Amino acid sequence: MGIESGKGCGLAGQHVGTLMTYPDIEMLIDGEWTGSATTEPVINPATGEEIGRVPHATTAQLDQALAATKKGFAEWSAASPWARAQVMEKAARLLEERKETIARYCTMEMGKPIGESLIEMDFVIGVTRWCAEEGRRAYGRLIPGRAPDHRYSAIVEPVGPSCAFVAWNFPGTNVIRKVAHALGAGCSLIVKPSEETPATGMEIVRAFHDAGVPKGALQLVFGVPDNVSRHLIASPITKKVSFTGSVPVGKHLLRLSADTVTRATMELGGHAPVLVFEGADIEATAKLVGGFKFRNAGQVCISPTRFLIEKPVYEPFVDALTAVAESQNVGNGLDDGVTMGPLIAERRVDAMERFVGDAKDRGARITTGGQRMGNQGSFFNPTVLADMTDDAVMMNEEPFGPLAAVSACSGVDEMITRANRLEVGLAAYAFGADRQTSDRLSQEIETGMLGINTPMISLPETPFGGIDESGYGHEGGIEGLAAYQRTRLIVERV
Ligand code: NAD
Repeated sequence: MGIESGKGCGLAGQHVGTLMTYPDIEMLIDGEWTGSATTEPVINPATGEEIGRVPHATTAQLDQALAATKKGFAEWSAASPWARAQVMEKAARLLEERKETIARYCTMEMGKPIGESLIEMDFVIGVTRWCAEEGRRAYGRLIPGRAPDHRYSAIVEPVGPSCAFVAWNFPGTNVIRKVAHALGAGCSLIVKPSEETPATGMEIVRAFHDAGVPKGALQLVFGVPDNVSRHLIASPITKKVSFTGSVPVGKHLLRLSADTVTRATMELGGHAPVLVFEGADIEATAKLVGGFKFRNAGQVCISPTRFLIEKPVYEPFVDALTAVAESQNVGNGLDDGVTMGPLIAERRVDAMERFVGDAKDRGARITTGGQRMGNQGSFFNPTVLADMTDDAVMMNEEPFGPLAAVSACSGVDEMITRANRLEVGLAAYAFGADRQTSDRLSQEIETGMLGINTPMISLPETPFGGIDESGYGHEGGIEGLAAYQRTRLIVERV
């Protein structure tokens, strides 16, 4: 059995009381659940306690997975899209049955409130169903030729055995966006979730395995991230790599992919600007976008970060956002009523302190928060930094934490210029713009995704992805499946 953990950090909320078990972490290689002699601890970020151990794959195990993914691809890609959809639908049903348990593992290893983990599991199930269905529509096309006796067919086929590496911030969503799109398109996949949050990904893979995905078609490994990714990407068996995580790691993986001309999808970091115009309902906007800011303690690639506010509504917006930050109930995500959990690890608390210290030195006004919380677990106060200037480190590097930077602007031209200042372009938001300005923002904001009067920009059926240094390729929507497909042209003289 796994290791028991039942202590909350006591910062807020009523502790659930019951002891939670955390599962033994194993890898799935060639259809067998397996461990390794080398392991590392899994830490509950709310308590600082070790709750489990995650195995590291040996080179021999990675080679075994590579051999198996080739065989798994042959079998899975030969199955009809309809048959594949049946297996994936069964996996969705199993995930539904198991979602409460998996959500608890997610909160224990990552820290987010249990309500957020449950919503994440619903998204996992939704993506599985979307990909199962949409995978049946890999149509290809017939192209009219120039000579009557020539027939041109563009056939869509799975790209081949794939591998994926994902970050810890959405232990379920990040994993399913790789697994369901790869399998839905007919590819085999070796997935490596973050070693910091292994159980959620393991249970997702288990549901697909139990649903009947063939041996080798879906495998799970853990290890030293750089060793695993180097080894898998260098193999000629691997035809596609997909990564969710930071820009520097994404660039590193792209360099490795270049050596083998392996196709890549990169879902990297962002630094989302939020443009608030005079016409916005300030209280309602601050509530909506502020709630979104502190979701997952700000550890979200599309988290609203740079709040660019029109001068006439600047001070009311700062006050309203401060009130939202102060209304957060910070604590152990398993406790009732908690709205914000800890950061993933102590290193991120240190990073928040650096961002805040630097902003203070440059004259920022901290209206609330600004410090670590408690003496157990990696908690940081929901923080609002007003009067931010663009030279502050936080205005240039993704904070990936519960920090909101607010700055006054004199109008739409300045807001667009400042929104577009960085090399990343993942998500952007605008509130209260008139029709004409909204049209202008739709064309001029350099971003992969723009939310106008809403932060809800992601569904299983919509494309999710960034531009510039936020990466390329999409997950979600028909684009998410296309990322795992290639086109073959057949020309027949008849
Ligand atoms: P990090 O860059 O060290 O790690 C991010 C993730 O990449 C981790 O899960 C890690 O296991 C994985 N990783 C690292 N090196 C790898 C390699 N060589 N091969 C394969 N995977 C590898 O950063 P961190 O301290 O864990 O997180 C902080 C930063 O990461 C933030 O500033 C944020 O920009 C970024 N981040 C972005 C996302 C996203 O969704 N875009 C998610 C998590 C973290």
